Amino acid sequence: MRGGADLAATGERLLAWYDRSARRLPWRVPPGGDERPDPYRVWLSEVMLQQTTVAAVRGYFEAFTERWATVEALAAAPEAEVMAAWAGLGYYARARNLVACARAVVRERGGRFPDDEPALRTLPGIGAYTAAAVAAIAFGRPAVVVDGNVERVVARLFAVTDPLPAAKPRLHALAAALTPAGRPGDHAQAMMDLGATVCTPKRPACGICPLVGDCDGRAAGIAAELPRRAEKPAKPLRQGIAYLALRGDGAVLVETRPPSGLLGGMVGLPCGDWVERGEPPARPPLAAAWRELGPEVRHTFTHFHLRLRLVGARIDFGPGGDFRPAPEAGAAMPTVMRKALRLGLAAMAGA
Ligand code: SF4
Repeated sequence: MRGGADLAATGERLLAWYDRSARRLPWRVPPGGDERPDPYRVWLSEVMLQQTTVAAVRGYFEAFTERWATVEALAAAPEAEVMAAWAGLGYYARARNLVACARAVVRERGGRFPDDEPALRTLPGIGAYTAAAVAAIAFGRPAVVVDGNVERVVARLFAVTDPLPAAKPRLHALAAALTPAGRPGDHAQAMMDLGATVCTPKRPACGICPLVGDCDGRAAGIAAELPRRAEKPAKPLRQGIAYLALRGDGAVLVETRPPSGLLGGMVGLPCGDWVERGEPPARPPLAAAWRELGPEVRHTFTHFHLRLRLVGARIDFGPGGDFRPAPEAGAAMPTVMRKALRLGLAAMAGA
């Protein structure tokens, strides 16, 4: 590992690059100044950005902050509205925790986010990464912010060849050694920007990298293959049936999933259980002339692949239930259910 003087010089080069090249993002303030970003916006952006790209988040962030400009406004919003606005962004436990966290900040802290990591971590949905990011970026605390981008940059800079996830503690320690006491928020964002725009996963653009002269991975000719990863077990396949009940006026039957668990609290087509072995059980939500629609929905979650058979029926106006106009229902659904609705409607229109 390099000496302290080298690390300080590396950190300065990184900040100088950030001053010139920082991405302009709606939750940021320009680098180097005294202006601090709004903790609410930093927190919201960091929660949205977990497991999601900046390109996907930008529109959601703008829509959320237009509709709920403050933590008080978000805390007062009905949870179902927040879930519907989050639809399509994935990892829906984040949306439920978002509302719970906003309410805790308003109820217990007078609408002010705490400014250090331990206190931030007591709030719903704020783990080690988000607490460090908010503490550093919103409050200028010297917190060590390590996400996947930062792990990659650090593994390459220090030529760490141990595979992830076992290498995590070492990468964190190296990231900590690189974090300066001054401008920790800008340093964190500079690392994120370098990982997202220069030191990219497949083809690091070492030729334009401000740290090219500091990089052990580049010097050893192994940068592009870092970080190494232990082989993951193959994801299992689950299967299920989704039911599309289409009423004469174009409304479709939806169900709101239970609050906890996968897609918890989200609106979707009625489904039976998703099973890994055997045939999925038939659980039609109402009596009707159900028939196979043909197309199959395929979707991959973090821990498994899913295949949903689509079954549909045209319904008279008689039965009750949560029928909603198809476009409105689709807008509130997570991606997998949107796919199912779109494919099912197309199949029924063509029948
Ligand atoms: Fe990444 Fe290349 Fe820069 Fe090293 S020199 S940090 S591998 S972009």
